Amino acid sequence: MHDVAIIGGGLAGLALSVELSSKGYDVVLFEKNTYPFHKVCGEYIPNESVAYLNHLGANLNALGAANINQFALSTLHGNKMSSTLPLGGIGISRYTLDNELANISKTRGAKIFDNTTVLSTEKSKLATTAGDFEARIIIGAHGKRSTIDKKLNRPFIQKPLSSKDNFIGVKYHVHADLPRNLIELHIFKNGYCGISAIEDNKYCMCYLSKASNLESNMTIDELEASVLSQNPILKDYLTRFEKVYDHPKVISQIYFQNKEKGNDTLIYAGDAAGLIAPLSGNGMSMALHSAHLLQNEISQFLDGQQNENTTLINYSNLWKKAFNQRFRFSKVMQMAFFNPNFMNGLVKSANIFPPLASTIIKQTHEKAFFKG
Ligand SMILES: Cc1cc2nc3c(=O)[nH]c(=O)nc-3n(C[C@H](O)[C@H](O)[C@H](O)COP(=O)(O)OP(=O)(O)OC[C@H]3O[C@@H](n4cnc5c(N)ncnc54)[C@H](O)[C@@H]3O)c2cc1C
Repeated sequence: MHDVAIIGGGLAGLALSVELSSKGYDVVLFEKNTYPFHKVCGEYIPNESVAYLNHLGANLNALGAANINQFALSTLHGNKMSSTLPLGGIGISRYTLDNELANISKTRGAKIFDNTTVLSTEKSKLATTAGDFEARIIIGAHGKRSTIDKKLNRPFIQKPLSSKDNFIGVKYHVHADLPRNLIELHIFKNGYCGISAIEDNKYCMCYLSKASNLESNMTIDELEASVLSQNPILKDYLTRFEKVYDHPKVISQIYFQNKEKGNDTLIYAGDAAGLIAPLSGNGMSMALHSAHLLQNEISQFLDGQQNENTTLINYSNLWKKAFNQRFRFSKVMQMAFFNPNFMNGLVKSANIFPPLASTIIKQTHEKAFFKG
């Protein structure tokens, strides 16, 4: 019997694994892919998480993370604005960062089973493609949407996906001639595309599009040619920037929403506990921060200071306090971004009155949650 079993080795699962194994608990983590691997993500991490990543042992400078402190935006109609990023952030690929945290976990004593899918859970038991396991507590850190959610028949899985709430995400790594301290966001019809520097002189180009943009049988190339390229800046980038790997990473059925934090079998962390729109640039920070909140509650459970029910209640309350307001704000931002006239007006106003831009940007960045 292990102390903790973690389903999913993204940022939430890996941060929990590093923290709990560093405290001497017996941790086992299952990741269905094999490290290192690419993931759809804009790969921009606000500085609020940097102290925590350092605490986990990630050497961001040695990994080549880019420092980002400038922001630029273009609307569908080609209006542009730019601003400094008051709190700033870093750019690093998930390929590199997740792999680093998996290696740190192993050195702290966690048993990492990659290339291993969790098929089902029941009370303290897990069935995986590497056999059956048992743990005192099981954490679901399996991301946006997983077979595990279907097995557990979670409420968000039962809701039919309406086409207006259903998104696809696409990511490339490219070679670009852009400043390395700049993150750009370019709007297209029913979507937006971000581009910013990562390690090794590369850039991450990642977009989110309503699934309804993809007409029947349309390929990703056709989507980019007919929809994204209506924005002249994106047209230029898509034709000019050399792709590091030919085929983009693509995910579908992305549905942004807050979710329940656990049940009598599992406690959820990261996107499995709530998926925030990437506009606020905070999904990774929320995954890390939620893991940090949860590790403290789990430690108390494992040390016999509280039962599993209290652990879940305490964690749910901490989660709400930390993230509910962010969730509401990201919904408002997402609605605004899909309204071209509103965005045109906003960009024009921000150009006339620059403090407006930094006031809005400040809402998307928080102060460091880990003080050390
Ligand atoms: C288009 C797009 C752009 C984004 N851009 C940004 C950005 O720039 N900045 C930012 O902060 N956030 C961004 N995000 C959000 C961010 O990517 C997520 O919030 C973050 O990855 C959540 O981490 P996680 O650990 O919860 O989940 P994940 O990183 O998704 O990890 C979950 C892991 O679980 C594994 N898994 C799933 N099911 C099983 C199973 N049954 N058995 C074993 N393993 C399993 C998966 O393979 C995966 O590796 C973006 C999201 C999208 C969609």
